[in-house]
Amino acid sequence: MKPTHIEHIGIAVENLEEAITYYEKVLGLECYAIEDVTDQKVKTAFFKVGDTKIELLESTDPDGPIGRFIEKKGPGIHHMAFAVENVSAALKDVEENGVRLIDKVPKDGAEGLKIGFLHPKSTLGVLTEFCGDK
Ligand code: ZN
Repeated sequence: MKPTHIEHIGIAVENLEEAITYYEKVLGLECYAIEDVTDQKVKTAFFKVGDTKIELLESTDPDGPIGRFIEKKGPGIHHMAFAVENVSAALKDVEENGVRLIDKVPKDGAEGLKIGFLHPKSTLGVLTEFCGDK
């Protein structure tokens, strides 16, 4: 398995509207989509920077993954997502190399993509996501 590029960087924010204003007004990027991902208990906003996206994540539930992350660590970089051709195959590949998985099988992410998370204890402290069409 070999990722093709960094698909997106996920950033936990406390207030999506304020965060969007910063990315648009200060950095000059354009928010092209806002989406609720009920599965993950987040509301997301997307920006493109070349081939890579910035994914802002606001929690919709204090007990959701982003709610708990902000409670513990405050807002900031939450995860890095690699684009892979086949998420299910990529997850199997890294598991065979001893990586602990959060998701054994892909689940539905934003933008109709399949996603799967690797455990940060197995990835040098970086919560890592695979992202792809299948
Ligand atoms: Zn993500």
